Amino acid sequence: MTIRIEMDASILAQQVRDIPDFPKQGVVFKDITPLLSDPTAFSTVVDAIVAIFGRGTIDKVVGIEARGFIIAAPVAYHFGAGFVPLRKAGKLPYDTIGESYLLEYGEETLEVHADAFMPGERVLIVDDVLATGGTARAACELVERTGAKVAGLAFVIELGFLDGASSIEGRDFVSLLQY
Ligand code: AMP
Repeated sequence: MTIRIEMDASILAQQVRDIPDFPKQGVVFKDITPLLSDPTAFSTVVDAIVAIFGRGTIDKVVGIEARGFIIAAPVAYHFGAGFVPLRKAGKLPYDTIGESYLLEYGEETLEVHADAFMPGERVLIVDDVLATGGTARAACELVERTGAKVAGLAFVIELGFLDGASSIEGRDFVSLLQY
């Protein structure tokens, strides 16, 4: 799928702050809190994701803990879709299914409630950053293990040098800013 929309990405890029050596040595952390606190940038991100995939195409929007929640919830509202949290191990109160994977800086397990989706539901996965792609791939696998369909993935930022795109090859995904 190739979708193009007109957007001045520099408005967004100005609101992303690089934090060297956070949370550990050698990682340049992309801090989106300035973007979230800027009314134009925040609404532009949400509107762009909804415009790219289009209303009527998504039943549930998945947000990945924790910054993914912040973007995914208003995206779900604008789609008229439901919101589903993917959380770190032990945080969700009901029956869960889980998937472990490698991060740019460590290992992680993601969980989702076992009854979060109906079979065949069209799911959009949303997160702030696509880095190595391990998180995105684990999220896709969790959604598909429930019987739902991954309609696409949306990221504010893609760290192209980490080639996360290869982990979600063949899937429809969009990133609003590339580094
Ligand atoms: P990955 O699984 O390597 O694609 O990592 C993606 C997840 O880790 C996302 O949930 C991001 O929030 C977080 N993450 C990884 N690298 C960075 C980074 N350089 N800056 C900010 N967040 C990051």
